[in-house]
Amino acid sequence: MSRSITQGLAAWLAAGETRIGELVVLGQYELRHHLDAGAGPNAPLASYPLPEAARDIALYDAGGNYRPLKTAPTLRRGWRLTLSTIGQLHEALDFFYPAMLAARFAFQQGRLAVTPLRDTLNRQSGMYAVTRKITDPQADALIGSFCRSEGGSPGCLKTILWPIAPGLPVASLSPEKFDPYSSRTGIPLLCAEACNLLVARVREAVKQSPAP
Ligand code: SF4
Repeated sequence: MSRSITQGLAAWLAAGETRIGELVVLGQYELRHHLDAGAGPNAPLASYPLPEAARDIALYDAGGNYRPLKTAPTLRRGWRLTLSTIGQLHEALDFFYPAMLAARFAFQQGRLAVTPLRDTLNRQSGMYAVTRKITDPQADALIGSFCRSEGGSPGCLKTILWPIAPGLPVASLSPEKFDPYSSRTGIPLLCAEACNLLVARVREAVKQSPAP
């Protein structure tokens, strides 16, 4: 499977999909923050030859704050990874955006399972069981602020594939947020199920709601 994904990555790059999230792939195979794409050879970018450097770069933002959500638009600049093989590039991208190439590959093959938010919340237990009590309008507003691409708290670059419930789409974000092909030059980051951070935020919202 991993080898097939690497082959898929090679095909996506050959088709011109050189952007993924905040990253850009230049040639074979240099990886940078896309805002550093135009920096010349003498630019003060820290250079790393191995994919493992991506793990450390992705850990903290430019202000030194831990990044709990790897797809938040907070990746720091000022570095380049000069990798030798497509396999190393695959590895580095998995450090920056865990499981995202695999999700894209599964989506392309029509076998990416998508879970509505209600199903995710209904199977929560213990201290998270209370998340089932969130109303649909509350959930919609929360997703609109928490998952939006342009920042917020914390903001997220993923394309949302799930509805609140079957037949009830999220209405608080623009249509591009739900379109994996809204950027023709990039490998999309796909959200097939609400993450733990959103579930935790739902819990906070329910706890803060006045009792009925
Ligand atoms: S639920 Fe999905 S889109 Fe929203 S913040 Fe989590 S990973 Fe990003």
